[in-house]
Amino acid sequence: MSNATCRTCARVMRDKSDFPRGNFSSEFCADCVDEKGCLKSRSIIRENMIKERVEKRGLSMEEAAESVDNLMKYLPMWSQQPV
Ligand SMILES: [Zn+2]
Repeated sequence: MSNATCRTCARVMRDKSDFPRGNFSSEFCADCVDEKGCLKSRSIIRENMIKERVEKRGLSMEEAAESVDNLMKYLPMWSQQPV
């Protein structure tokens, strides 16, 4: 068990399945890392986050995109980069 937060999508990582390949020391969640252990690109991560909000929280695409863009401004990984 852990209580980390993914640095790129802010997902709370508690269970083994939340971590890439069960690696509890990872700073990124299983959704943000590919099979080879590389961090996915910003646009792919953004799309995943939008999809998650539409599917699990019932937001519209527009609402989800706005919420993701707002969130990404505050995430350490993306805050340095222009949108
Ligand atoms: Zn993540």
